[in-house]
Amino acid sequence: MRFNPDRCDRCGLCLVGCPELSMDLNDARRAVSELIEGGHGKGARAVLSACSSCFTCNTLCPTGADPYFLILERWGRLYRDRGAPAIYRFVCPNQDDNIWSGLAGMASDEERALFGRWHNNQEPPPERPLVLGNYGHLFPHIADSPLFDGFTVTDPIGHWECGAYLTQAGYLAEVEKIARMLEDPLNAYGDRETVVLTDAVRMLLTRFIPEHFGITYSPRFTSFTYWLRDALKKGEIPLTEKVNLKLAVHDNCYAKAEGAPLYDAAREVLNHTGAQLVELSHNRDSSHCCGFGRGAADIPKHAIPFEIMKGAIRKIRQAEQVKADGLVTYCTGCMYLLWAARELSGTRIAVYHLVEPVTMAMGAYRYADLARQRERAWDIIALITLGYAKGFFQRRFFIGDPADIRYRPDDNTPTTVARIIRSLLSSRAARGAYAAFFRTATKLLT
Ligand code: SF4
Ligand code: SF4
Repeated sequence: MRFNPDRCDRCGLCLVGCPELSMDLNDARRAVSELIEGGHGKGARAVLSACSSCFTCNTLCPTGADPYFLILERWGRLYRDRGAPAIYRFVCPNQDDNIWSGLAGMASDEERALFGRWHNNQEPPPERPLVLGNYGHLFPHIADSPLFDGFTVTDPIGHWECGAYLTQAGYLAEVEKIARMLEDPLNAYGDRETVVLTDAVRMLLTRFIPEHFGITYSPRFTSFTYWLRDALKKGEIPLTEKVNLKLAVHDNCYAKAEGAPLYDAAREVLNHTGAQLVELSHNRDSSHCCGFGRGAADIPKHAIPFEIMKGAIRKIRQAEQVKADGLVTYCTGCMYLLWAARELSGTRIAVYHLVEPVTMAMGAYRYADLARQRERAWDIIALITLGYAKGFFQRRFFIGDPADIRYRPDDNTPTTVARIIRSLLSSRAARGAYAAFFRTATKLLT
């Protein structure tokens, strides 16, 4: 969980096998040396601008030197020197333009009440907590499942996904502040078993934060994916229907920190539903990022959203190639980008969280027409569009105090401009035109 220069013999194999760069061996060796020495040569620049923070290089290193964290260190240095790109405000709940505030303003009263409960379910500490993950708020229908009965879903946006997405960008000084801020609220859970839906969050809490900052938390964190696999195996979840879908799995970047046991668990869960499984061309250790990691790279600000969506649309196209009916993710963070990509790509393939096929097999799924998910995806696209436009007039910024949270779950006042963009994107024709424009712009700007 930290780059170890003593273990690195500069063999270059990590960058030769990188699914984004696929470097020639000599270039790879040069680039690794430049990264280690802090240089800004062609090789280092190529890596820092093309990397999607996918974690694959870590799985390729024969000496266990953890080269992924070398890239995070270099991005972290860039952040310390000049701040984050303006559009990154989108994922910072201490900034006015964060996505959660924007979406709370577009959500129904019922959803807002749910967000409020998840946000405030800390006091008193619940007996059986389930940490949903901040991105779970963007598609709250996934929590409308009997699978969550018996848990208390809890998820304060002010916990910043426990630092998971800032880690992926290399903003490690900010992650340390968040990790320290979380000591009191998480330790208030005592040693309760705490189930975590998003494995990136669990990895942060159990491995990255303890190893990097020496901070440990008292709860026993458990993966929801493993919990679900085990409960299905023991027959504790009643499945009444076969899921007649051909499904492909998207393996997320931080799942690679765990590797085969987690990949296999997600697939075992789907096997229980009766769905037919197919594999994407890039899966498991070689899986491409959902696109989010491209936002961390050192690229011009006008290209950032297009690079992110290009990565997400690539995953959709991979699912089309294997003729899947649906692409299944077990990370809520990937889910919102994949849904936005689904709409912008014009595909018919659905995007599901792992919870959804199981809920279908339980005969308890209410969202098969995808209407609600599609509307939410267009909410997200409208907010990304607004964030992008504003970003042209904003400078890079430093994230600041993570405790200074602007998000209010009961705030239902999106900006007038967000409302206008959203209403312009209501008709089928407007959506088709916008998606076509987006794809053309992506070709020109990336
Ligand atoms: S990090 Fe590992 S794979 Fe990469 S150059 Fe060093 S030893 Fe080789
Ligand atoms: S994190 Fe992924 S994209 Fe970045 S260098 Fe490593 S393998 Fe390549």
